[in-house]
Formats: sequence, structure tokens, C-alpha cells
Amino acid sequence: MTSTQEQYDLVILGSGSTAFAAAIHAQELGKTAVMTEVRTLGGTCVNRGCLPSKNLIEAARLVYDAAHPRYPGLTPVHMPFSWAELVAQKDEIIEEYRDQHYESLLDDPDHMQVVTGQARLVSDHEVEVQSADGACRLIGSQLLIATGSQPRIPHLPGLVDVPYLTSDLLSSADDPWGTELREQPRSLLILGGGYIALELGQMFARFGTEVTLVTRGKSILSGYEPEIAEALTEILQEEGLRIVTGAQVRGVRKEGVGIALALQRHGSQHMFTAEQLLVSTGRRPNTQEIGLERAGVEVDQAGAVRVDRTLRTNISHIWAAGDVIGRETESQMATPVGAHDGKIAAHNALSGEPLREVDHSVIPRTIFTDPQVAVVGLTDEEAVAAGIACDCNTIPLSVVPRARAIRDTRGVIKMVLDGPTRRVVGISMLGVNAGEVIHEAAMALRFGATTDDFIDLIHVYPTMAEALKLVAISFTRDVSRLSCCAS
Ligand SMILES: Cc1cc2nc3c(=O)[nH]c(=O)nc-3n(C[C@H](O)[C@H](O)[C@H](O)COP(=O)(O)OP(=O)(O)OC[C@H]3O[C@@H](n4cnc5c(N)ncnc54)[C@H](O)[C@@H]3O)c2cc1C
Repeated sequence: MTSTQEQYDLVILGSGSTAFAAAIHAQELGKTAVMTEVRTLGGTCVNRGCLPSKNLIEAARLVYDAAHPRYPGLTPVHMPFSWAELVAQKDEIIEEYRDQHYESLLDDPDHMQVVTGQARLVSDHEVEVQSADGACRLIGSQLLIATGSQPRIPHLPGLVDVPYLTSDLLSSADDPWGTELREQPRSLLILGGGYIALELGQMFARFGTEVTLVTRGKSILSGYEPEIAEALTEILQEEGLRIVTGAQVRGVRKEGVGIALALQRHGSQHMFTAEQLLVSTGRRPNTQEIGLERAGVEVDQAGAVRVDRTLRTNISHIWAAGDVIGRETESQMATPVGAHDGKIAAHNALSGEPLREVDHSVIPRTIFTDPQVAVVGLTDEEAVAAGIACDCNTIPLSVVPRARAIRDTRGVIKMVLDGPTRRVVGISMLGVNAGEVIHEAAMALRFGATTDDFIDLIHVYPTMAEALKLVAISFTRDVSRLSCCAS
């Protein structure tokens, strides 16, 4: 790259799903947009997040289910597998998906481009992109910050001196910064109790790695309904994961060919060792070293770019969306949120039409453990904190006909209501296909549904979605004493 200078309607820092949604919308509006990328085109989701994790998680489920059939009459079989081949097919899937959904969209260079290199704001209209080939300057009438997030690494004594993995273990061979895991560890210590720790922990355990998950929280999944965390803990423990909660890590060191972790729990000292360590203690927005101070863009206490509901930063022609805004405007770090908001940011920056505001009140989310955890709206605790006089009920999935029919009754469903109006304000489910079921709940919340709306809707029989109808009925009737079809 030579030292060049280019002018665009929209200059975007990043090339992830948020950036692409914005660039595509700019193109639709007949404007010019340029993205920038220091790592791999397409960002976290396709290259080292959603796609590779869900690919390998499903393979692990096949291996596990073969060895643990739920039906009498099916004989357990040990399914041999090759880690190297699994990793290679994962890389193929990533590449194919990246070609189809990212690279192939770059066929209109008059409107949409990507410049490779490390982007940094040098003023409130200029971005410098530095690569091994040189530097160039991109001038934007409008700018969008969509630099995403990266693993948050805690300050722990000894951690800087030991090798450790992050979720980047999922990245592919062609990622210049990646650390793809080429060999399956025999044993793995995981620091963290959030969704990435749990998804990867169960996956490794199902492939036969001995997994110990260590979290400082009272339970896994802090911020989720306690009934869900408790039920999932039991399920994971039954599968053989060791889960250590309430742990204060005192230090990490090399031990032979592996890692030793010293921790304090309920006043006593413990030591755990494993071949590898995976640090999965949350994610932080990529706001460092991108020159925000040069443009005067403010960040919040968590280091996320501060935005209003139109995704405008404190500088009127600079916008931000995706993981980089963290919890601003009650956002969440998830691909569909960034993609949805990237389009809104581009509309607000470029269309000249009235500004659109984001609405983050209904964001369905799924954790791809088996069974899945899926949530939307408020938890019981959040509803109380919001001053809602709430009413809550939790039922086991053993009352759902489909769960019984397929011999998988693991899990629970909890519904949170605004007591006086019976309006449903939150649903959390742990169960088979919860990630599909949650969409009915999300639509219901979007349109202000009450328990009667769930009860009056005829549900397909037998489906896991009947769990929603049953939990709604459970506020007034004993659901263990219903006939077929929850009537
Ligand atoms: C293991 C894992 C599993 C996940 N699973 C799911 C899931 O199942 N479902 C879901 O919805 N979400 C999931 N996520 C979250 C999801 O990946 C992110 O929310 C999403 O990718 C954020 O998109 P983004 O465009 O905002 O940021 P990113 O996708 O992170 O894109 C930002 C891009 O900007 C680049 N960049 C950063 N700084 C600079 C710079 N200075 N110059 C140039 N380029 C720069 C980065 O390299 C990156 O490519 C998962 C994440 C992880 C890590």
C-alpha cells in the first residue's frame, strides 16, 4: 500500500457483521463506504466466534449422544474421531461462509471497499490505516466505529508468564493473529463461568478432555435466573465437568508440561492442574489504540464507546455500533444486535431522513450448551430492581409432552410477569431447542403479550414451545394435572 488519501461518505473502523451491515446500507443509499480490517475480513463471529464454536459443539454432541443414547434398545457406541480433521472441516466451513457472506459482497468497489491494516483516528474526519505495506489516509464525511471486542484478560499473579488459550482457539489457520488449537488437550482448566466458558467447556468434555471450570461467582451464569444456573450446573456435573464456584484465584504457574492454578475457596486453599488453561472471563470493547482521543470521542467506565439511542457519539458525525458499545443503550454483545444496529447507524449517518433510535428492550439470546439456555426480557431480580411488582413461576420441562416423548426432560422454564397487568416481561428457558422456542417469547414481549395470549394461542403438539403455554397456565393451575395439549 502506498501513501494515499481517499474521501468517502462513510469510513468504518472494522469489517465485522456490524461494519458490513452498515456498508451494505450505505451502498443501498448510493453512498460510498470503506471498511478497515487489521485481522481477518468478517470479524469475530464468522472467524473465531459463533460459527466455529457452533460447528464443533454439534460434532461434540454427535460423539456424546452416540456414547449416551437416551433410549433403551439403543446400544452405546464409542465413536472414534480425528481432532485434526474436525479442525480442518471447521476451517473449511469458516472459509466458505466468509467467501459467501463477506468477500463476495465486495463486488462494487465504487461503493464498498475494504482497506487492510490497523486503523486509527487521526482527527474527527480522518482515519490512518497502517499496514506492512505502508500507510494511507481515509477521509470520511461520517465515521462509524465498529471495532468489536476481544477477550478480557484478568490481572492474576503469574498469568503473564504462562501460556494460555482464549476463545481465539477457534480461529482458523489463515488468521494472522489467531492461535488455533491444533491438538486436543487431555485436560483443561477454564477460568470463567459465562456463556463462552460453558459452551467450550461442555464441548471439550464431550470430546473426552478432562474439564475443570473455575469461577469466582457464587454460581455459573451470573446475571441469569438462578434456577437456570442451578439446573445447568447439575447437568454439566453429571456429564463429568468439575465446576468450582466462589473461587478466588491466587496465582497461576507452569507445572511440568502443564499449568497449576492456586485458589482460595471458603477459606481453604486448593490447587488444580491441567495440560492447558483457557481464560474466558468476559470481553472488552476494542477502544484502545484507535485514536478516540484524537477525535474527542468519549468512552464509558467499561471502556465502551458512549452513544445515544441514535448510536451517535458525543461527536455529531461519528457513530458507533456492535460489541464496541458494550452495554450502552442496554445493548448486548451479539452478532444480530450489531448487524441490526449497523444498519441504523448507516441510516442515521447518511440518509438525511429522520433519525432512527435503537430499541434494545427485546433481545433474545441463546447459550448453545446442550440443553440450550435461552432468555429474553427481564429476570426476576431485574424486574424487581426496575420497580415492577412482579409475579414469577418456574416449572420443570418434565411436564412438556414433547420432552417426555423424546426422553429428554432436562431443564426448566421461568416466566416473569408484571403482576397487576399479567403482561409477560421476561422468560428464561433451559431445555432442548430453547434457542428456537425463545422466538415466540420474544415476539410476545415485543407486542406486550399477557399470560392469556400464551394460553389462548394454539400450539403445535407435541413441541417444546408448549413449555411457554404451560408456564403461563402454571400461574393459575396445576400443570401436572392437564390432559393432552395443555388444555
Ligand atoms: C467464542 C465466541 C462465540 C460467540 N458466539 C456467538 C453466538 O453464538 N451468537 C452471537 O450472536 N454472538 C456470538 N458471539 C459474539 C459475536 O461474535 C460478536 O458479538 C460479534 O462478532 C460482534 O460483531 P462486531 O462487528 O461488532 O465486531 P467484530 O466481529 O469483532 O468485528 C470487529 C472487527 O474490527 C477489527 N478491528 C478492531 N480494531 C481495529 C483497528 N484498529 N483497525 C482495523 N480493524 C480493527 C477486528 O479485527 C474485527 O475483525 C460469540 C463470540 C465469541 C468470541
